[in-house]
Amino acid sequence: MSHFFPLSDARSVNRFEEKFALVAAGRGLIPERLWESGEDKITLWTRPSAVEGPAPCLFLSAGIHGDEPCGPETLLRFLEDHPLSTACEWVVAPLLNPSGMKRGTRENRDGIDLNRDFYRKESGEVRALTSWWEARERGCDLHVSLHEDWETSGLYLYEINTGGIASFAGRVLDSIRGTVALEGTGPVDGHELSAPGLILHAAEPDEELGWPEAIWLAKRYPLLSLTLEGAGGIDCHSRTAGLLAALTTVVAEAEAMATDGF
Ligand SMILES: [Zn+2]
Repeated sequence: MSHFFPLSDARSVNRFEEKFALVAAGRGLIPERLWESGEDKITLWTRPSAVEGPAPCLFLSAGIHGDEPCGPETLLRFLEDHPLSTACEWVVAPLLNPSGMKRGTRENRDGIDLNRDFYRKESGEVRALTSWWEARERGCDLHVSLHEDWETSGLYLYEINTGGIASFAGRVLDSIRGTVALEGTGPVDGHELSAPGLILHAAEPDEELGWPEAIWLAKRYPLLSLTLEGAGGIDCHSRTAGLLAALTTVVAEAEAMATDGF
């Protein structure tokens, strides 16, 4: 078990990146410099599947909001504990907003909320990520993004499902009840809950031009997108434990489906 990274200044972010690089390389992930500006850089980690022909692609994304350090921490801990299935292709973005993370701000150094920038693409970070996907022949079949909601005391998730994959969000939520509380009452950010901890979301943005990553991906590719929101109202260790339990079940479900054929 790694020690906790505070992820609140340049030194801690650099140490996180070094540790993540060691763990990711140990899982056979290959680094690619997605973007850099001055001292800030984004690394994308990928690993092809070992099967012939197209394999399900899983995209794990974290750290797009700089005041939400538990997402990157969760991805690191997940990779420490779990080998990745060879039946899937993997794309892992552990820390998409390095300048915001160093300052502890939701936005990047230019004041842009990256997770509302996928329509306008004003930031270099988002332009780099969207260009990377656009240069590929195939998109992702499963998108998981890790966030924290500072206004809630229970974990919840957004599901967008345009891919025809049978939803397994209910099983994910069932699997974490013993680890962390689920958000039980809505509305959350204007959304009613379909069940404790679950928001079923259309592939349309809440703000016309303020597209998040999940909406851009869902409009571009048929997929299942799960945005996991750790509860800000509990301590960071419990928040990370909840996100890790949820991510572990999501990946286990996806890997089982990949083995059977998506
Ligand atoms: Zn967030």
